Amino acid sequence: MNVFKFGGASVKDAEAVKNVLSILHLFRGQKLGIVISAMGKTTNAMELIVEALWAREKEVFAEIVEESRRYHLAIMSDLFPDANAGIYADINTEFDQLLAKFNEPVTDNFDFEYDQIVSLGEVISTKIVAAYIQQEGIPLKWMDARKLIRTDRKYREAEVNWERTTRNFQERFLPEFEQSDVLVTQGFIGHTSEGFTTTLGREGSDFTAGIVAYCCNAEAVTIWKDVPGMLNADPKWFDNTVKLDQISFKEAIELSYYGASVIHPKTIKPLQNKKIPLYVKSFIHPEAEGTIIQESTATDHLVPSFIFKMNQILFSFTPKDFSFLVEKNLSDIFDRLSKTKAKINIMQNSALDFSILVDADKVSIQRVLEVFSDTYHVKFNEGLELVTIRHYDQATIDRVTVDKQILLQQKTRETARLVVRQK
Ligand code: ASP
Ligand code: MG
Repeated sequence: MNVFKFGGASVKDAEAVKNVLSILHLFRGQKLGIVISAMGKTTNAMELIVEALWAREKEVFAEIVEESRRYHLAIMSDLFPDANAGIYADINTEFDQLLAKFNEPVTDNFDFEYDQIVSLGEVISTKIVAAYIQQEGIPLKWMDARKLIRTDRKYREAEVNWERTTRNFQERFLPEFEQSDVLVTQGFIGHTSEGFTTTLGREGSDFTAGIVAYCCNAEAVTIWKDVPGMLNADPKWFDNTVKLDQISFKEAIELSYYGASVIHPKTIKPLQNKKIPLYVKSFIHPEAEGTIIQESTATDHLVPSFIFKMNQILFSFTPKDFSFLVEKNLSDIFDRLSKTKAKINIMQNSALDFSILVDADKVSIQRVLEVFSDTYHVKFNEGLELVTIRHYDQATIDRVTVDKQILLQQKTRETARLVVRQK
């Protein structure tokens, strides 16, 4: 059995859904577990719906629900010419129930309410895609991830109960392949032991593909994307990107850790644990090779990879009393940092300075000053870039630092990281 994952972009309109069908035609007769995300930007819309519910803004709430309904119905009208097709009633019921939530009691747990609503994006998209594929003659079964993937109660960032989830897939999912070649389920969502819906974190559908593959001992996973595979840099920032034909699980984790956004970082571990290869392929050119991610590190070093993070702030903290930075005040610095919600991309210290680089959009400078200024002098530089180069050499460093001033750099055997600003 193979696992396929189709993300939001691959089901964002009727054309895209038809393309999913054409890909499935290429694999007729094979056993496929298919994981699908919410259509296009639906998850963002669902987030706005929860916020409107939470703020008790009835009109905004209803407006966004109806806008999302219209978006889905427009796609459906292209896919299902028969106006009496059952899928219309099914999807309208989902939206009617969503609309009715405004008048239902709400708990005091925002994250809980978020998961009950935001998960509907995946429920709706899988229902539509499944109905379409079935209409076009491929027998399949729609499977509810809320009965398969068991998690804890950490709403919005639920942790998987692997034992229980594996048992569910073995007992409820795999036997369905006796009747149907294709089983379709939702990315991103799971359930607690009480049966409440949970979500696995934004962009979590890739991770779901990893979970399904792990629990079913799949032969391979394919993530179908709008890019030809994993590239050695984001084409947004870099000309002349090249595709990585083959990399190791380890390399894939490193790249996603440093910020390459092609696959969700959590996806790799379950696959590595069972040595299940992961293919990243283009849904536009499904016959092309793509990238294969697997155990061997033999080809990792062939191509240097570049990861850019823009809009960074470098903070430096110096104890006002001129004390050395030793373990004791380092732990004080970390305690304070945890109060600022700063996400540290790089850190470095000298005798008297401790420096961290953080994403500007995730931290408030004001808050950092408040938390630190009683005991530390705080300096900061805004508008910086962080460049990470895997498998670097001097030429690659020179290439990314043309017209740039280097404020800080760190090198290990495989990785160079440079904090730079425009000269
Ligand atoms: N639909 C979810 C999101 O947009 C999960 C995913 O697409 O991977 O975050
Ligand atoms: Mg997505």
